[in-house]
Amino acid sequence: MDLMTKQLLMKLEQWIEQDKIVRFYQSKEWRKIRAVTLRMYGSRCQQCGKKATMVHHKEAVRKRPELALRLSNLEPECKVCHNKEHPEKLAKFHKKIFENEERW
Ligand SMILES: [Zn+2]
Ligand SMILES: [Zn+2]
Repeated sequence: MDLMTKQLLMKLEQWIEQDKIVRFYQSKEWRKIRAVTLRMYGSRCQQCGKKATMVHHKEAVRKRPELALRLSNLEPECKVCHNKEHPEKLAKFHKKIFENEERW
């Protein structure tokens, strides 16, 4: 399953360039694939088995935008495990997005 379209990929590449990647996380395509991912794994964190609230990109969106909406590149994680995956994001990105959106 892959919800990426040429059009969306072009937009996403622009957002990455402009540091507006948050727009990707607001897209209906992301919301959909995110929900599918959580459902597929029964909302269990793939690291520790607790309840997952986030969906992680194994290949980062910035590095491989073409994989951003591909089911096989996604896995659910709880907040704790997800923070461990992204130590750099805590400092680098807006804290607000990380804590409220829970979509990384
Ligand atoms: Zn976990
Ligand atoms: Zn992640």
